[in-house]
Amino acid sequence: MQPQTIRKVVIAGGGTAGWMAAAALGRQLGSLLDITLVESEDIGTVGVGESTIPTARTFNALLGIDEAEFMRATQATFKLGISFENWGEVDDRYIHSFGQVGKSTWMGGFHHFWLQALAHGFGGDLGDYCLELKAAEAQRFYTGENGPLNYAYHLDAGLYGQFLRRMAEADGVRRVEGKIASVRQRETDGFVDALVMESGQVVEGDLFIDCTGFRGLLIEQTLKAGYEDWSHWLPTNSALAVQTRSTEPAVPYTRAIAHRAGWRWKIPLQHRVGNGLVYCSDHMSDDEAMTMLTSEIEGETLIPPRLIRYRTGRRRRTWDKNVVALGLSSGFVEPLESTSIHLIMIGVSRLMQLFPFGGISQATIDRYNRQADDELEKIRDFIILHYKVTERTDSTFWDQVRTMDIPDSLAHRIALFQESGHVFQAPGELFQVDSWLQVMLGQRIMPRTYHHMGRMMPPQQLKQALDDLKRNIAGTVSRLPQHQAFLDHYCAPAVSK
Ligand code: FAD
Repeated sequence: MQPQTIRKVVIAGGGTAGWMAAAALGRQLGSLLDITLVESEDIGTVGVGESTIPTARTFNALLGIDEAEFMRATQATFKLGISFENWGEVDDRYIHSFGQVGKSTWMGGFHHFWLQALAHGFGGDLGDYCLELKAAEAQRFYTGENGPLNYAYHLDAGLYGQFLRRMAEADGVRRVEGKIASVRQRETDGFVDALVMESGQVVEGDLFIDCTGFRGLLIEQTLKAGYEDWSHWLPTNSALAVQTRSTEPAVPYTRAIAHRAGWRWKIPLQHRVGNGLVYCSDHMSDDEAMTMLTSEIEGETLIPPRLIRYRTGRRRRTWDKNVVALGLSSGFVEPLESTSIHLIMIGVSRLMQLFPFGGISQATIDRYNRQADDELEKIRDFIILHYKVTERTDSTFWDQVRTMDIPDSLAHRIALFQESGHVFQAPGELFQVDSWLQVMLGQRIMPRTYHHMGRMMPPQQLKQALDDLKRNIAGTVSRLPQHQAFLDHYCAPAVSK
């Protein structure tokens, strides 16, 4: 049998990233590893990160988590998509849902039929052909055996961390509380071999996962892996986060409301609402941001607003020597499409798949980093799209992003859609054709032409097919329970038998 040289895993940091890594490794590979997590209550966590995408369900399933228990523990609500308001133009609104739009054929997307229908003078809104979108608008929801909807969660990130901690500790993960004072490296090759705590305790390891947040204590402060700055494409750099008491039933979608220098989020949980204002400090001062946020939020404020600064970009080497960066230490793209927790999840999944039991090789590191780079670049392009494709001219911020140069990869996608109506999902890409489509159309790009397969149907037949689809979706939605009522029922405390 091949000897195991990597056994001791040390996770530095106990935010969402740290405990997700600990829970996943503990559950999936626990008997082969010796896992320790180090965290400092004095330093605390970033404390935001409440909106997820459907892959969160895959992660929970991997860990064998019971959904109702998870939702009670994290005060979660269901999420069917994001309502984008004021993005294409002030007073515009569209929903980017997790659903599929219509029924596509091997030759091309459903939207080509819809564009043909528009040319005939019928067809209506594209959203009429998407179940999740119509359910979100109607605030209806259902899950369960054969549940029809693709969904994610809004959750309390702090409670999620505690939930995962209980799981991880039950699976044998050891927790060390205290501040890391220094990071010890081997003289021979610079590999990290221990964390030295302020208490003097030394935590030794073979592989280290850096989950220390923006500071990147191991990956950057120690190994100097470098950071690629993307703020010329995504110039927001500040966020004010605040929690308020709920004043209305929870809607099954996140709200992303653009303002003159960025956007504001509103995320309904069971026990409260998460709010935040994202802005670019070159175009809005902190005082102006605070005034805007406090004047626009509803309900009693539960804790004072907290200011968070960030720089959009990615770590040049996500895995360097024997340190793998996960979460904010690996890079950051603003939470407009709720992708950070997803990136932690696929990062830890990839690490488990490539786990270097027999020793760390450069080939493994390269494979890990190449995939991480690729995934994040595609997400980056999708986020830039929201800013670039706008008709807003009401502020210097929107003038800047509307006229900025964008990556060639994104420019190609926009031109392709504008000129031909074609949309594609690149290999390994998170966002599917339906996502690109909903955002591009939602932000007012109308393709100049499209695939003419719809012309092969007589107009009356096309109209009938679209009407049937629309009626089916509307009928299904009308039979779903209201989201808040379903949530109350689903999350009611389990009755002991
Ligand atoms: P942190 O939460 O910062 O945790 C760092 C950990 O390291 C802490 O436990 C800390 O104690 C520990 N630590 C640091 N230094 C030391 C030391 N010297 N000694 C000991 N311990 C140390 N993501 C989403 O998916 N959806 C969202 O809606 C979303 N919204 C966001 C909004 C904003 C404004 C921001 C900034 C981020 C948002 N994110 C969102 C991202 C999300 O918050 C993070 O991906 C997630 O919380 C993971 O954070 P982390 O664990 O990497 O870092």
